[in-house]
Amino acid sequence: MAELGSPEHPLRVAVVGSGPSGFYAAEHLFKQANLSVQVDMFERLPTPFGLVRGGVAPDHPKIKSVTKVYDKTASRAGFRFFGNVEIGRDLTVDELRQYYHAVLFAVGAQTDRALGIPGEDLPGSHAATEFVGWYNGHPDFKHRQFDLSAERAVVIGVGNVAMDVARILSRTCDELISTDIADYALEALDTSRVREVILLGRRGPAQAAFTPAELGEFGEMADADVIVAPEDAAVDPLSAEWLAASGDRDAQKNVALLAQYMNRPPVGKPRRIIIRFLASPVEIVGDGRVEGIRIVKNMLVKRPDGSLAAQATDQTELIPCGLVFRSVGYKGVALPGLPFDERAGVIPNTLGRVADTPGVYVAGWIKRGPSGIIGTNKPDSVETVECILQDYSTGQLESGSSSTTDSIETLLTQRGVLFVTFTDWQKLDQLEMDNGAKFGRPRLKFTAVVDMLAALDKR
Ligand code: NAP
Repeated sequence: MAELGSPEHPLRVAVVGSGPSGFYAAEHLFKQANLSVQVDMFERLPTPFGLVRGGVAPDHPKIKSVTKVYDKTASRAGFRFFGNVEIGRDLTVDELRQYYHAVLFAVGAQTDRALGIPGEDLPGSHAATEFVGWYNGHPDFKHRQFDLSAERAVVIGVGNVAMDVARILSRTCDELISTDIADYALEALDTSRVREVILLGRRGPAQAAFTPAELGEFGEMADADVIVAPEDAAVDPLSAEWLAASGDRDAQKNVALLAQYMNRPPVGKPRRIIIRFLASPVEIVGDGRVEGIRIVKNMLVKRPDGSLAAQATDQTELIPCGLVFRSVGYKGVALPGLPFDERAGVIPNTLGRVADTPGVYVAGWIKRGPSGIIGTNKPDSVETVECILQDYSTGQLESGSSSTTDSIETLLTQRGVLFVTFTDWQKLDQLEMDNGAKFGRPRLKFTAVVDMLAALDKR
């Protein structure tokens, strides 16, 4: 048999997940000189791009344009996309290991972290990740209901997802119509009665997880004033010391921007975004649905490692509100047949090599946890692919795959799986843009898998 990695016998890699980390990994594999690779990318939805399609806020089209880079990877000889194929339902992890020399999981973090406080599950209390999926037309979340009849919403957490949620709740219909927000979400938000969104940070302004660009955007909202009270913008001595010592530019910019908002009197716009710090939720209260949130005031204390943590005081406050969004981070989900670290929500690995599972690798959020921006995934995926290449060059992948290029297609067809190719996706993409153009919108998303398959005439 020809040598593994030669054009006659390419290194066959399955990439599970079609978000940024999956595409960056595929690209790095294709970039290797003197190595023939075949990359089959599996995605449980008929549409690619993971959180770029289903997570990035619709009013951030520039960020979404990163998909052009992924399109280039998809156009490479040796790349195939298998959309609408779920590992665990249509194919098992073991089957992938039989069919490919290496299997890389880049499946992201598919659920949210819980707060563990009373009232968390009351109607009107939602994971921010569900709201994000809903307004982005993700098929898993299209049926979620958000009662937007209350005047005040509280968002717990001050990361970039919390900023996205606050912005989308506070945008006007005119601002949203030019985006690719799901049509049902546009309709619901148009009649929303939410007029005030309070963001709650458990630590201080210097520890906020949002980035300065997102904070700056608040100041440019058509219909919303940004309000930061002096006690919330104030930097305590421990934080001032930390800011100076760490030299964290983002934190310094955040603190400066918050001070600007503090000094800017509201101009009487009909909506308000209020940013508060040193406040932790202790209970979501209400008789049958959310009526308020009880918070405790915190102070900052120094941990032995030098970081600053929130410590509750004995001061509490009840904020009346009708909606709560819990935005305290995403969490990875276990895959049958692979080890899982329940606490961290990741697949245990070393530099991307899955523990005790030869030939299996991870990249992105399921590898390192839900942190960083899209670009962070590039070096992360490169690191994992370097492990694959090392294992290839030391002969550790030789025993994998005895199958051929066509085998997986045959197996899926035998099982009646209606898989979607990249060319199919490009048709859907064009249809979405054409349908949007009829209404002067950039695209009108398909939000149900059955509609996508029907549009592609897959039955
Ligand atoms: P995140 O950045 O990790 O922020 C989570 C927030 O929740 C932090 O403020 C955290 O506070 C707070 N939190 C955690 N546990 C809490 C608790 N028990 N009570 C109260 N607050 C709690 O997570 P994310 O906003 O979900 O974002 C995930 C990643 O995606 C981030 O890296 C983010 O930058 C990225 N993202 C980027 C963009 C963009 O570039 N535009 C948009 C969306 C998301 P502590 O700091 O005190 O833990």
